[in-house]
Amino acid sequence: MAIRKLRFMGDPVLREKAEPVADVTAEVRTLIADMFDTMYAEEGVGLAAPQVGIGLRVIVIDPREDDVAPLALINPQIVRFGDEVGRDEEGCLSIPGLKEIVQRPTTVLVEALNPDGEPVSIDADGLLARILQHEVDHIDGILFVDRVSALKRKLLLNKWQKVKPL
Ligand code: ZN
Repeated sequence: MAIRKLRFMGDPVLREKAEPVADVTAEVRTLIADMFDTMYAEEGVGLAAPQVGIGLRVIVIDPREDDVAPLALINPQIVRFGDEVGRDEEGCLSIPGLKEIVQRPTTVLVEALNPDGEPVSIDADGLLARILQHEVDHIDGILFVDRVSALKRKLLLNKWQKVKPL
């Protein structure tokens, strides 16, 4: 297990559509273990493989809530969005220093493979639903700054020029 180097906004890997995992190999499981290490080291609640420079559809999540176990999902797909939308503040390990309110559906149904290669289905609401959408966005090359108004995005991108890690 190891902490991997985070990629920051501006790195092209964060804007690419990640490839599906064809086989859940030992290499993929090592990637998942490293992603958990990296997420916990950075005190994040979710991480997608492109954030450590790997263009594969793999995400890890731990909302740090008592009733939600940490999740590692391979090839996750949001198969249903709820009708209700909610607004809450989001940040991103790839965009440190920036936070903004993002509007998203409050419930989602996600289908994926677990690290044993078995199909799983997650009916999520609240913080978990929000993190799932944020991480699935990452594997499609989408960042939370794309989910706010044009004016707010402009302000965020201006701030990023001042606070981004060198
Ligand atoms: Zn993020």
